[in-house]
Amino acid sequence: MEEVYIAAGIGVGIYPKDADSFDVLLKTATSALNSAKRSKANRFEFYNKDINKQSMQKYELQNKMRNALLQHEFSLKYQPQIDMQSGQIIGMEALIRWKPQNSEESIMPYIFIPLAEESAMILQIGEWVLREACYFGHKLYSQGHKISIGVNLSRIQFKEPYIISLIHSVLKETRLPANLLELEITEGILMENQEECERILNELKSMGVKIAIDDFGTGYSSLSYLKKFAVDKIKIDRSFIKDIPNSDNGIIAKIIIELAENLNLSVIAEGVETQEQVDFLIKNHCNQAQGFLFAKPLNEEETLQFLKEKE
Ligand code: C2E
Ligand code: MG
Ligand code: MG
Repeated sequence: MEEVYIAAGIGVGIYPKDADSFDVLLKTATSALNSAKRSKANRFEFYNKDINKQSMQKYELQNKMRNALLQHEFSLKYQPQIDMQSGQIIGMEALIRWKPQNSEESIMPYIFIPLAEESAMILQIGEWVLREACYFGHKLYSQGHKISIGVNLSRIQFKEPYIISLIHSVLKETRLPANLLELEITEGILMENQEECERILNELKSMGVKIAIDDFGTGYSSLSYLKKFAVDKIKIDRSFIKDIPNSDNGIIAKIIIELAENLNLSVIAEGVETQEQVDFLIKNHCNQAQGFLFAKPLNEEETLQFLKEKE
């Protein structure tokens, strides 16, 4: 028997505030519905005039993105992951940035990744990220750094039939040892098509590739999949680390660490910013962390420098 998750999206247009005829009213409701579908958290939305403005901005960004790969506008930053007890660097997570031509500032992934996912451009972008990160991972490896390279996979990429052969051929091309590639996926991916997921994860495992569950605790509450799927690591979402040691005394972080321990999985805390958080995590047997306290995401040159300083 398979569990099925159903979600509804609702868009609301109000007469006569938003429109004075049926046709226009329907358009405002549709526009609000599209906006509600795009937002992950809200499943219903009222029409407001900004929605149209936002659609225009979105359309412009999507158009700009079409040439971004060819124009070399994307780059990767790497955020170190630390073993807090030994002080050793155990991994680097690749994080994408986009700096359009003639633009001063980089656009952050939370803005453009959802747009890339909507238009399927994520497939080309994700492939570029994978290849670029694996090449850099091999460069570090060849310099004697046996550290894993974390690559975020979008659910659209994960669903592509060629994902296994792509990962296989990129590893071959870049000569990165498979056990140094750690793919980060979110809980939602695992819930979508469980049988297919199991097959893909088993294949990745047999290749030696590692799997981490990103933003753990923010997705679905069904935990049975953790036992079922070939997963290696849990990444505790930043929201559960943020207020430690205040508010809830880190109770959720504590529970997640225990869960990982019981299931024999590695666990890493995301978004560690203070020494208090480090003390709390070590006391509760979570020795791995990633966060601004140790390093912000670094470009390649800064990453090499960072590794040199830690030697
Ligand atoms: P994520 O995979 O959970 O990555 C961690 C995010 O938290 C990064 O944001 C990182 O800069 C930020 N962060 C790390 N330490 C701290 C800290 O101590 N404090 C705070 N406030 N933030 C911290 P970033 O780079 O903006 O990436 C956001 C999200 O975009 C990522 O979340 C990931 O889901 C997605 N993303 C990034 N790169 C890629 C990519 O190449 N492909 C895909 N599909 N998604 C990506
Ligand atoms: Mg991640
Ligand atoms: Mg995360």
